[in-house]
Amino acid sequence: MTYVYEAVKRIPTTLSPGVIYHNVEFELAALRCACGCGHRITLLVPDGHRISVQGAVPSVTPSILVGDAPCHSHYFISSGEVEWLRAFSPSQAEAVMRGQVARHVSADRASRSLWERWRRAVLRAIGRVMRFFNGSR
Ligand SMILES: [Zn+2]
Repeated sequence: MTYVYEAVKRIPTTLSPGVIYHNVEFELAALRCACGCGHRITLLVPDGHRISVQGAVPSVTPSILVGDAPCHSHYFISSGEVEWLRAFSPSQAEAVMRGQVARHVSADRASRSLWERWRRAVLRAIGRVMRFFNGSR
């Protein structure tokens, strides 16, 4: 995705993909996430990020890290082009997610074997009680 710059008096409720809206008066910029997830990103300009514009082509520094959306994207926008940063590329974020799922699965397996152990202990206890009653008959 490539971005264009648009200075606005009011940031629109619906953002077009590929547009960085900049409200100079309120020191805010807004854009849709470059990964295509549709997440709305708000930047504080110039407090958090700086936007330099050549023609209508924006560059944003420092990098944009999407921490509040499932994509966890991390990228630069340089001369309107998205430069993905490897640490948080969508495929790596996905790999992290898969790792998390795998951990959930093994945690599940562990709790299942714990339950199994408990069930066997109960059965053994019941067996002992039954033997006691049988023996006292
Ligand atoms: Zn995204």
